[in-house]
Amino acid sequence: MGLDNILPKRRHCRIMAKQPKKTLGLETVEPAVTPPPAEQEPAIEKKPVSPGTTRKRDIPQGLWTKCPECEEMIFDKELEENEKVCPHCSHHFLTTAYARITSLTEPESFEEFDADMMSVDTLEFTGTAAYADKLVKHREKTGLKDAVITGIGRIGGHEVGMAVMDFNFLGGSMGSVVGEKITRIVEVATERRLPAIIISSSGGARMYEGMFSLMQLAKTSAAIAYHGRQNLPYISVLTHPTTAGVMASYASLGDLIISEPKAMIGFAGPRVIKDTTQSKLPEGFQTAEFLMERGLIDAIIPRTELKKRLSEYLDYLCGNLG
Ligand SMILES: [Zn+2]
Repeated sequence: MGLDNILPKRRHCRIMAKQPKKTLGLETVEPAVTPPPAEQEPAIEKKPVSPGTTRKRDIPQGLWTKCPECEEMIFDKELEENEKVCPHCSHHFLTTAYARITSLTEPESFEEFDADMMSVDTLEFTGTAAYADKLVKHREKTGLKDAVITGIGRIGGHEVGMAVMDFNFLGGSMGSVVGEKITRIVEVATERRLPAIIISSSGGARMYEGMFSLMQLAKTSAAIAYHGRQNLPYISVLTHPTTAGVMASYASLGDLIISEPKAMIGFAGPRVIKDTTQSKLPEGFQTAEFLMERGLIDAIIPRTELKKRLSEYLDYLCGNLG
């Protein structure tokens, strides 16, 4: 599909203008809420395999990961260098928000916003596990404060307001902090006349936060609407998986919606839909490829080409084709 077919009319955003830094009230602590169901926990855990456990004898010392798609053993260093994409079959492994930011932005150009904003357990939610305990566990496990990193970074020649979700933190679920951080960075992009990019990876709303979580759908959508009214472009990047409340709000509102290959994209899960509609679901249902054929997604781009393609789209959308 050519650019002319998939891109909306050019927007008029400022390119690479230096702006004074703004204090955004990092001290604010937002009430927070839910973790996703158990099945939305990070699905792919790296499982180091020592050389002694493989059938191959002449492999060098180091850690290896078995590709779940083609079952080839991949040297971890090689996997990292290839942005967590299998060099044999292009399977896209789970990655982290900071790894994505490093690979997409120009060196030392990313300035993080609201880095210290943390969820609180407003509802004092308890169940099979208390929300407060889950938050502590995931902060320790991931080194993150919550499931999204936001800031201003440069991609090619363009400064961009960015939000990058991390599925490793409570399944990338959207609680009050995720919604607030995304809203704030979109508002900063609006104020500075910058394009916005949100990279989603989420099981949906954070149910531990109940209504506080669901309110984020409206808040983030409103911020994106104001951004759009200023004729500023917003690119939504979907990665595996992007579902439920996130897909029902900012992830599906992009002027351009692009996806990594074979990502699961949807609202309710396929089993729920099948039980509700009592009908057989078509093959490939809720995959990026299925949704691109039907017009929801504009382009499917491998992770290793994403920076180049985003840079080209920004050139086009910002009227800088040279
Ligand atoms: Zn593979």
